[in-house]
Amino acid sequence: MVDISIDLDACVGCGTCVDTCPSSVYEMNDEGKSTVVNADDCVECCACVEACPEGAISHSSC
Ligand code: SF4
Ligand code: SF4
Repeated sequence: MVDISIDLDACVGCGTCVDTCPSSVYEMNDEGKSTVVNADDCVECCACVEACPEGAISHSSC
């Protein structure tokens, strides 16, 4: 299983990761930050890591 973490201090809540991930791994939380809700469905494409403008996503496979 992959390990994905969001640096909440770095996340600006743009939603790009939510829009980019093909597996709906991310959702925005009530504080307007990205949160990992579905890591089991990750296909390890690394699109989220490449797309995040703040470099806020750490992914064990990317
Ligand atoms: S793409 Fe990066 S900055 Fe934007 S919501 Fe996702 S984690 Fe936060
Ligand atoms: S690596 Fe791909 S499938 Fe996994 S969370 Fe990132 S965008 Fe989604």
